[in-house]
Amino acid sequence: MRCIKCRKQTPDTELYCRHCGTRMDMSFDEITEELRQEINKEHEQDTEAFFRWIMFILLFIWVSGLFFNRLWENPPIPTETPAYIPNLEIPASWSEIRAPLVIPEQN
Ligand SMILES: [Zn+2]
Repeated sequence: MRCIKCRKQTPDTELYCRHCGTRMDMSFDEITEELRQEINKEHEQDTEAFFRWIMFILLFIWVSGLFFNRLWENPPIPTETPAYIPNLEIPASWSEIRAPLVIPEQN
């Protein structure tokens, strides 16, 4: 006889499977119920894994959001600049200046 659970051969005289210990003389209803429970369990595990992934992705987005927000508010200061004035107000008269773009010629 074949075990309904592990599909391995067990002699007909045995009451329990030699390999996994499942009862061999189960009624149709018992077998159906067992299979249903097994399917439900698998489904629950799949759902759990799915939500774990969703949580992981959301956490990742949140953490990277924090990081980029911090960069946005405190941009890295260039090391070669002697002084960094974040809120430098440009005088109104400066906006009148139109400096010509000069590209140096290369030989
Ligand atoms: Zn078995």
